[in-house]
Amino acid sequence: MVRSVFVLGAGIVGISCALVLQRRGFKVTLLDRRGPGEETSSGNAGILSYSNITPLADPALLPRLHRLILNRDNDFLMHYPHFLSLLPWLLNFVGRCRRRLYLNDGGAMSQLTLASIELHKKWINEAGLETLLNSAGGLKLFRTQKAFLDQQLERELLESSGVRFTHLDADQIREIEPDLKPIFKRGVLIDESVSLRNPEKLCKAYAEMFRAAGGEIRRAGVRAIEPRGQEWALFTESGVELVESLVLCLGAWTPELLGPLGYRNPLAIERGYHTILAPADGKRLSRPIFDVDASYVMAPMEMGLRVSTGTNLTRGETAPTPTQVQRVLPRVREAFPVGDILLEQPWMGRRPTVPDTLPLIGAAPSHRNLWLAFAHSHMGLTLGPISGELIANFIGGEKQPFAVAACDPARYL
Ligand SMILES: Cc1cc2nc3c(=O)[nH]c(=O)nc-3n(C[C@H](O)[C@H](O)[C@H](O)COP(=O)(O)OP(=O)(O)OC[C@H]3O[C@@H](n4cnc5c(N)ncnc54)[C@H](O)[C@@H]3O)c2cc1C
Repeated sequence: MVRSVFVLGAGIVGISCALVLQRRGFKVTLLDRRGPGEETSSGNAGILSYSNITPLADPALLPRLHRLILNRDNDFLMHYPHFLSLLPWLLNFVGRCRRRLYLNDGGAMSQLTLASIELHKKWINEAGLETLLNSAGGLKLFRTQKAFLDQQLERELLESSGVRFTHLDADQIREIEPDLKPIFKRGVLIDESVSLRNPEKLCKAYAEMFRAAGGEIRRAGVRAIEPRGQEWALFTESGVELVESLVLCLGAWTPELLGPLGYRNPLAIERGYHTILAPADGKRLSRPIFDVDASYVMAPMEMGLRVSTGTNLTRGETAPTPTQVQRVLPRVREAFPVGDILLEQPWMGRRPTVPDTLPLIGAAPSHRNLWLAFAHSHMGLTLGPISGELIANFIGGEKQPFAVAACDPARYL
């Protein structure tokens, strides 16, 4: 029976794994080359969302595939130099754009989401972070009837998953968000979604709960891992040490350590950008909005209005191309009175994604005492706690709360 665990990667997923494992009695070390929550987990839109259970492989994409490939629409920007290496991923993805698979994968995502948001709420209370939490729901907005109708299957999935939402007409939108400009014809309020006014603060507070309870947080870059008999050799900048077991939570970087062990890289990287705007004098947004036709999310946060973009699809590291930010700024101004841009350069984050959009959580298929929790795509902030719970159940040999085969890493490795 494993007693001590090294968790590699201190984003929300690694922090959550460390916290749950510690509470189950394991001796846990959390290791990252940066401070806790300072990569992708810091710059996201901060939404703990019941409605983002929707798989990306949506049959509604099929009629506009040609537009997507030609970079005509602002929700998707292909990085052409990576097109060939992305092709197998893309073909698999297109093959999944089917109603049955969409509803099936979305159902699995909804189980993870419901359980994870409950855990978040508990931990937020424990950490005394209630002031970070905005419970006003999340608002999807449609400028055109066509955009609204295109998302019919998504609403069907939400209904079948028991997600509560309310249809709003133009007047009702103005009632709950009076400072929005009157350009939206329809809205869908996801009543129970909650959001965070600063996701990085949340990560750091969870990491502090772990540290305060005796957990060790180390700052070091990991170069490689190698099996050595019953143990693992962990190579970092400061040398090599033997450890009993490992959980890899390195987000987009996880394949760098898995590749040398013989696993294929299953990821496409959906890069996403954000900038921060000041609201115009006296104007207020009460909850995050998703302007569907214009392809951005705007979330009210401690530092201002965080505007984040859709997908910039790549396969590896390359210089940031924040053109989607430049394109959405005029659309943001059409929707809401904003003032100055408060960030010099857009922030960039990496959403590691497999074609069915579900994370890879579980044992590495060909190695002992190696567990994986990565590929959380656009839902990692939401799914951190349940990822920790499932990993701790695997390591401790405990029963899972629901069927978790949908997240089995073996399906892509
Ligand atoms: C624009 C945008 C908006 C988003 N909005 C939302 C949202 O509203 N709601 C939501 O639920 N999700 C959202 N997401 C997704 C979410 O942010 C991610 O899924 C989540 O942060 C992933 O967490 P993680 O812990 O897996 O990865 P990360 O936060 O990326 O953590 C991985 C860690 O591994 C470390 N690391 C990597 N390689 C090494 C190495 N060799 N040695 C040591 N350390 C290493 C990194 O430093 C990093 O800290 C959004 C993402 C983006 C980009």
